Amino acid sequence: MNKLKSLPSVPLYIDGVFRSSSTSHWLPVTDPATNVEIAKVPLATEQEVALAITSAGEAFQSWREVPVPERARLMLSYQHLLKQHHDELAQLISSETGKNAADAKGDVWRGIEVVEQAANIASLMMGETVENVAPDIDTYSLIQPLGVCCGITPFNFPAMIPLWMFPMAIAAGNTFVLKPSEQVPLTAIRLAELFELAGAPKGVLQIVHGGKEQVDMLLSAPDIRTVSFVGSAPVARYIYQTGTGSGKRVQAFAGAKNHMVVMPDANMEQVVSHLVGSAVGAAGQRCMAISVVVLVGSAKTVLPALRAGMSHVRPGASDDEQAAYGPLISAAAKARVLALIKEGIAQGAICEIDGSHCAVDGYPDGHWVGPTLFSGVEPSMSIYREEIFGPVLVCLEVDSLTEAIELINRNPYGNGTSIFTGSGAAARQFQHQVQVGQVGVNVPIPVPLPFFSFTGWRGSFYGDLHAYGKQAVRFYTETKTVTARWFDQDIPSGPNMTIHLR
Ligand code: NAD
Repeated sequence: MNKLKSLPSVPLYIDGVFRSSSTSHWLPVTDPATNVEIAKVPLATEQEVALAITSAGEAFQSWREVPVPERARLMLSYQHLLKQHHDELAQLISSETGKNAADAKGDVWRGIEVVEQAANIASLMMGETVENVAPDIDTYSLIQPLGVCCGITPFNFPAMIPLWMFPMAIAAGNTFVLKPSEQVPLTAIRLAELFELAGAPKGVLQIVHGGKEQVDMLLSAPDIRTVSFVGSAPVARYIYQTGTGSGKRVQAFAGAKNHMVVMPDANMEQVVSHLVGSAVGAAGQRCMAISVVVLVGSAKTVLPALRAGMSHVRPGASDDEQAAYGPLISAAAKARVLALIKEGIAQGAICEIDGSHCAVDGYPDGHWVGPTLFSGVEPSMSIYREEIFGPVLVCLEVDSLTEAIELINRNPYGNGTSIFTGSGAAARQFQHQVQVGQVGVNVPIPVPLPFFSFTGWRGSFYGDLHAYGKQAVRFYTETKTVTARWFDQDIPSGPNMTIHLR
């Protein structure tokens, strides 16, 4: 703990002030490429979390009255600032995740796109009207904000995932308490500084740091109306059960095991390059990474080309333009991936390429894992059943498309999947029958842009309404219907005892 003393501390953002925490519990923030500690992050005290929630509640009273175009204009200014600071934000992301420069810029860009969508909030908040539901009576609906919303985010997209949440919630008229991953708190704080610079009023966004204890404070706070969570499956289940148990609206995005089906008629060059990129990009630490390839019939002949493709890429530091991806986030994450690789070998899978002993020149302490490829994998093996979250691709073979679809539908996760084929009929059968929420046809990682929503299914999502797009607006708002009549003519006098409106 003493070692932490000299490190710069990450501030909380409470009641419009970037302030140092009074806690005595801090964690190091580490550059995963060097294993050097670059900052310390506080585990916020109960009083600090309570103050953030109270301040967000007070800010809601005035923010909800701000006209919608003004709220939209805040998002326009924010979008502009995020673009101006795009490179700087990407560098910050690289420093705390090890992502390479291009990937870190992509992380920011996918968040900027959500802010652009939030700037369109007026048309997304339009209600409905039916005139003359009874003589001289109209019914119309109003879309109103809920109050204080909160977000709990993972390490793997320090900009994009917070930006999935607070811009939509705040544009809709709510206020927001964000609890970013304690592994990557620096980007979140910079996002808040830029939001303030864009003109966000005091208290509309608050940031508290910490882990389970601070999450539990948010989950049990009566004034928090919604919980948006992105992270691993066991925590997602816990958040969903606890949050809904205390009467909150919850959306919890969880882990994944995304399959790519390769048909014999696919363009195999495309298959190899897309598989390599989507399996090892960001060191496999993407919830939409392809971690399973299902080769149908003679498509198995692609295996040698896939082995060659994967062995040509390597990890490296974020400023190494030749490196395909960066390190894993922590020593613990690396140890977990290596243990799963070992289990795969012990359980009888063929390890075509083993990245366990990967080293990167000049970075002896980084959490590197090389590209790893398994063939001969069976559904019972742990490398198939578990989300590995590393640069590891497992390969299964089946005889038909129907068998491939059945395999995917038996897997508990349902975040994303894709098919590579030259056949429209095969693609049509796949998109119709597969029980997965985001489907790519000759597109490996089918993440929808923010005018759609991020629609993971089954074990990859707990809740009803998804992130961004129209579903996010419904998640962060309540619908009120008004039925109105104005007395400008004679109406029957005396009380009306029927349920008719006339
Ligand atoms: P994680 O579950 O360890 O942590 C996520 C957040 O939950 C963090 O803010 C953390 O502080 C908090 N947390 C951790 N343990 C907790 C507990 N016991 N109780 C309450 N809160 C707790 O996830 P991670 O390792 O940061 O992120 C990687 C995971 O996120 C992977 O499983 C990945 O698939 C998933 N993910 C999913 C999506 C999606 O859209 N489905 C997107 C990105 C990442």
